[in-house]
Amino acid sequence: MANNYQVKAKKHLGQHFLKDENVARKIADTLTLTGYNKVLEIGPGMGVLTKYLLEKDLKTYVIEIDSESVEYLKANYLNLAPRIIEKDFLKYDLNQVFNNEPLAIIGNFPYNISSQIVFKMLDMREQIPEFSGMFQKEVAQRICSKEGSKVYGILSVLTQAFYNAEYLFTVSPSVFNPPPKVDSGVLRLTRKENYALPCSEALFFRVVKQAFQQRRKTLRNSLKTFNLPDNLKANSIFGKRPEQLSVPEFIELTQLIENGL
Ligand code: SAH
Repeated sequence: MANNYQVKAKKHLGQHFLKDENVARKIADTLTLTGYNKVLEIGPGMGVLTKYLLEKDLKTYVIEIDSESVEYLKANYLNLAPRIIEKDFLKYDLNQVFNNEPLAIIGNFPYNISSQIVFKMLDMREQIPEFSGMFQKEVAQRICSKEGSKVYGILSVLTQAFYNAEYLFTVSPSVFNPPPKVDSGVLRLTRKENYALPCSEALFFRVVKQAFQQRRKTLRNSLKTFNLPDNLKANSIFGKRPEQLSVPEFIELTQLIENGL
């Protein structure tokens, strides 16, 4: 890594810098380049992934919270300088820059805020046709897992309602500085063509979250707070546990609740 000065990794910012150029290139190559001309990288750090994004036929933006990394990027990637956003991704209103234009999101994400990044991406789904990058392996697997799996949960259902999720490859701790304690996993989410749900989306989010609050209980028990009428609760779907329901079944469940209330 060519650098004038060494940036020391800050643990509280989830900094684990990639040192393997091949892995960086492989992550950049997960983008399919369909449906957008711009890409936003979250947490570029010292730009190991960024430089491969800059080789693509895309306008690359980065958002980085750490001023020391930003300084490094400004000094080493002169062309990128006008498109460096020095902000906290979780708090930043993307449309200050992007005016509702479609954009892809990519990153070797800060693992301490993985779920929050995914939830924010889901909120912005109308603007984000593609999302790819690296999380800790367990989180990447969770996002991509299917019903019946032990790790199937809120992140899996909410993401897969709107996106096709592919777990692409595993990355070992040894290619990072400092190495994280766990394996990492790279995934790609491609928004479905018809991603508007045939039910209230707000209710869908509430039902999924509530159902998994107590994942070992049947839906009849875990959805008590919805005060469902007895005749509705007699439906056999309420005898299931949340991890048994596919995404289409969660949609069906939401429709039942919507019509039964
Ligand atoms: N992409 C680089 C760095 C990955 S480490 C590489 O692969 O080497 C994660 C990066 O996310 C760090 O640079 C960290 O400063 C940054 N980061 C952490 N929290 C952030 C937030 N809320 N918003 C934007 N960037 C953040």
